[in-house]
Parts: sequence; structure tokens; C-alpha cells
Amino acid sequence: MNYKGDLFKSFAIICAMVFFCLILLPFALVSFFDKEELPSGPSLKKGTIQIPAYIDVYRHGSGKTESIAFEDYVKGVVAGEMPSSFEMEALKAQAVAARTYSLSKIIRSGSGGNPDHPSAPVCDDTHCQVYRSPADLKEIKSAEWMDTGWPKIQEAVDSTANQLMYYQGALVEQPLFHSSSGGKTENSEDVFVSALPYLRSVDSTYEAAAPHHNEQVEISLSEFKEKIKQAYPKTNLGSVNGDTIKVLERSDGGRVVSMRVGTLTLKGREIRERFGLRSANFSVSVQGNTVLFTTDGYGHGVGMSQWGANGMAQAGYNYIDILTHYYTGIEVYQ
Ligand SMILES: [Zn+2]
Repeated sequence: MNYKGDLFKSFAIICAMVFFCLILLPFALVSFFDKEELPSGPSLKKGTIQIPAYIDVYRHGSGKTESIAFEDYVKGVVAGEMPSSFEMEALKAQAVAARTYSLSKIIRSGSGGNPDHPSAPVCDDTHCQVYRSPADLKEIKSAEWMDTGWPKIQEAVDSTANQLMYYQGALVEQPLFHSSSGGKTENSEDVFVSALPYLRSVDSTYEAAAPHHNEQVEISLSEFKEKIKQAYPKTNLGSVNGDTIKVLERSDGGRVVSMRVGTLTLKGREIRERFGLRSANFSVSVQGNTVLFTTDGYGHGVGMSQWGANGMAQAGYNYIDILTHYYTGIEVYQ
């Protein structure tokens, strides 16, 4: 091989490497991350889904995993997540949401469990969905509740048996819900990471009866500063007062996206967590030596508002109306 040939060969190798690095590698990486972030497969398609007879549930109290008949588990979730005094149509909406969420967890986990509880796809507290077994309910509820509330919940689940939510023919994977929104729900990406097409900000008109309207939380200015300092010990906060504690941006649903505190810009969600606020839908003011938060609603504000669902049911809407209102573009199929 002569020198020119070697040179040409080296040039060709460099070209191939550049082509790989610039064109193929990013494509391969994007494809890989796409698959990681947006998992979708034939197993989630309508018509291919089989509801299993049993579901494994990790019980935090005992540390054990129990195999529970699937529809009995859904009943225990509705009992754990919604008051039985709510309207039947609201309970039915909750039943379909709980069933859909549980099934998507089973399908996603395949033969394994959840990374946080590897023995089961779901657990029994707010990490997944709150589940109460009939034995738990007998302990924590009254005899009257067992006679009236429990049959109502069973009826809500039985009358929607096997019904699931789909978006464009694929099982809905994140049918999120919360207690009350404060009047408008949130786009999923304004609270969590992913923008999901069925988790859009919508009006939640029928929440007048919900608790936690205009709730006030007072914190002394010095305690407020101290908590922020503890979280950001290396930052010079500058002066923290009524002029430098300000909401900067709100989401479509009204929650605080970002807020100024001294020299820092913080997320509304972080403020909610740090100060134990019921909602990131808040206003803030400084009055003398006190920081005053006024919050509206309870929970993250994404998906179905349970109090809004109950209000819709009282206004004559049925569970399909409720679900299609709070989950944009979904359909309910058996
Ligand atoms: Zn869990």
C-alpha cells in the first residue's frame, strides 16, 4: 500500500467516524431515550389487554406482598382514596381511574415489580394508590360505614367492571387525580416532567363544596428566611422582605411556577413542599414580620379533581362525562 493509499484510507476512516459521531450516534441515543421516556408497545393497545384475576400488592404495614383479586383491590383503592359519602357517579369515575392506573402498573412492571417495591407492581399507600382491605376497613371505619358506605363503593366498582380509559387506542398510563384544584387543573408538564396529551389544564367549575379554599398559612419572616438559608447555605440571599418575596410566573391552572426570594428564583412546587402548603396555587404577601400564604385547593392539581368530580355528579353529570372532562380526549371501553 502506498502513501497516498494510506492517506486515503485514514481519511475514509476519519470520515466514517465523524459520520458515526455526528449522525448515527445522536440518532441512536435519541431513539434509546425516546424508548425510555415514552414507553409504548402492543401490550398497551386496546383489544390486547387482559385484566388479570389477581394483583400483587406490597403492604407497607406488614412488609409483605399479598395477592389480591383484582376487582377487590380496586374496591379497596376506591375506599382508600374517596369518601363513600361522595355521589355514585364520582365513585364510579374513581373506580375506572383506579382500575386503569393499576393495570398500567402491572403491564409496565412485566414480570418484575416497582423499583421501590420490587416484589409487587403496586403498594398500598400514596406512593401508588391508597388501598384498604376489608379487614383494615372494619378496624378504621364504623359499623354504620360498613353497612352503608362499603356496599356503595362495591356497587361503584361492580357497575363499571372491566372498564378502562384509553387515549387513541392505548391504555391511559397516568390517570392522576387530586383532592381539589382551586378552580382549574394543571398541564402535567407544569407540575411533573412529562407533557401527556390527556393531562391538560381544564376548568374545575363544581368545587364550591371542597374544603381548603383560601386557606392561610403564616410563617414569621425570620423562620421563612432560615428555612430558605438551610436549603441554600452557600447562596447570599440579599435582603428578604416584601419587595423581594414575589411570585414571578404562574401556570395555565394558576399554580406558582416560579417565585423570587431575595436573590434566588425558586419553583412554586418547592415552596409548597418546603412550607407544607396544601397547594402550589397560592398568593404570598409580607405583613410586618409575617409571611402570609393563601392557598386554594389541595394536591398537585393534575388530572381529575375529586371534589370537582363530586360537584359534577351533583349537577347531573355521569362518570363518563366526569372522566372525559378531566382527562382530555380519552374514551372508556370495556
Ligand atoms: Zn408504590
